[in-house]
Amino acid sequence: MVAQALFEAGFVVEFIDLCFEKKPLQRISEAIRKFSPDGIGISIRNIDNCDFLSPKSFLFEIKELTDFLKSSTSAPILIGGSGVSIMPLQVLQFLDLDYAVIGEGEVAAVRFFQSVTTGDNGSIPGLISRKEHLSDHNPAQAVINPVVPQIYSWLDTRRYLKLEPVLPVQGKRGCANRCLYCTYNRIEGGNWRLREAASVVEEISIAMRQTGAREFEFVDSIFNQPEGYLETLLEEILRRRLKATFRVSSLSPKGLTKGQVKLMEKAGITSLVVTPETASDVTLAALRKDFTEADINHAAELLSGSSIKALWCFLLGGPKENVNTLAKTIDFVNRHIGKKDSAFITTGIRIYPGTGLHELAIREGVVEESDSLLMPSFYFSPEITPQKARDTLRNGLSDLSRCIFLSDTRSSSLGPLRRMGTLLGLPGPFWRYADYMNRITGSGRIISSDWSPKSVDRK
Ligand code: SF4
Repeated sequence: MVAQALFEAGFVVEFIDLCFEKKPLQRISEAIRKFSPDGIGISIRNIDNCDFLSPKSFLFEIKELTDFLKSSTSAPILIGGSGVSIMPLQVLQFLDLDYAVIGEGEVAAVRFFQSVTTGDNGSIPGLISRKEHLSDHNPAQAVINPVVPQIYSWLDTRRYLKLEPVLPVQGKRGCANRCLYCTYNRIEGGNWRLREAASVVEEISIAMRQTGAREFEFVDSIFNQPEGYLETLLEEILRRRLKATFRVSSLSPKGLTKGQVKLMEKAGITSLVVTPETASDVTLAALRKDFTEADINHAAELLSGSSIKALWCFLLGGPKENVNTLAKTIDFVNRHIGKKDSAFITTGIRIYPGTGLHELAIREGVVEESDSLLMPSFYFSPEITPQKARDTLRNGLSDLSRCIFLSDTRSSSLGPLRRMGTLLGLPGPFWRYADYMNRITGSGRIISSDWSPKSVDRK
């Protein structure tokens, strides 16, 4: 989207996707030689894997790339993306770079690269400069998607579609909720900013023609909020008679209705991710969720009576987690995760600067106030040990084969399996094959391992 915005502003843009590059430095070197850029923008999605049980920082690999860039060209470098937005000054410091964007980059990147010639970057919303001490500028969040995304113009979408035949689409940005641990308010802003349904559907329709994709995933913060949004978008999809199916990457259990589930089925939603994080009122309140156990149970009943497959996500070890709260979550999984569904379980919560969890972690002595949090740091409830949590899960979950643990998703066999599944035309999403995947990872699964905190993998 940033590349598209720069292009539309009159820049000549060369886009490099390092996702599949075996020799990224070589690729960068060739591009700099051929293109000789006047400015370089880098988007960083994640700075670590958020995995308490086997934490890995990506910053060391990223620094290799940025050090190489600095040694290859004197063009100004601007970093951004969600990994940067959550702690921009810390990331700039670590990478020894000067400029970063907080939040979305379509406007800020254009203005920054225009300012390279004028030298005036003092009033660019969202721009942070380490040396010039520009900091905490509020990102420009008034406009939603100043450019219409055209992924296929910049990326070789065929390579991604071979891995999993689905393309992302964003119907809104921001989130008006204030969950204790979440960084979305920082990355996308603290209010809902909705796109016109007609524009979202038009984007899907064009992407279908350009890429051949027939499945799309709505990657909004929460798909069914604010009230009325889900209906407006799905009715537009039905009106346009798109021959596509859809997934949803985050559905809140709050206030889900039978009518909404029926509408989702009718519009072609085949699977969704539900994000209660816990099934206990005590821990839901501690995480500042805006729904209750009753909402979760109601949503589970509605979805189990539908054709839509659900992946239920849980974050274990949050504030006030103990044996009793964990028992509630286990009981929920045992009662509601049916044959078509799975549970995704993350243990420990990554602490990010400026969140309520950060404040709590300082008060409880989990981290020092001076800790930059650049390396993965986690909160785990003082009311239960990780080992005890593991034993409680192992003894309490009646069907472990339907549970996917975050650490298990790093298994090297999953990539080839995924590709094979796509080649064979197996319908997605791939989490629906959790029981097969779990059979392959077998005794190597994290549930059979030691759950004591590990030191950070820096390679
Ligand atoms: S609802 Fe989701 S995106 Fe919004 S604040 Fe909570 S965790 Fe973050």
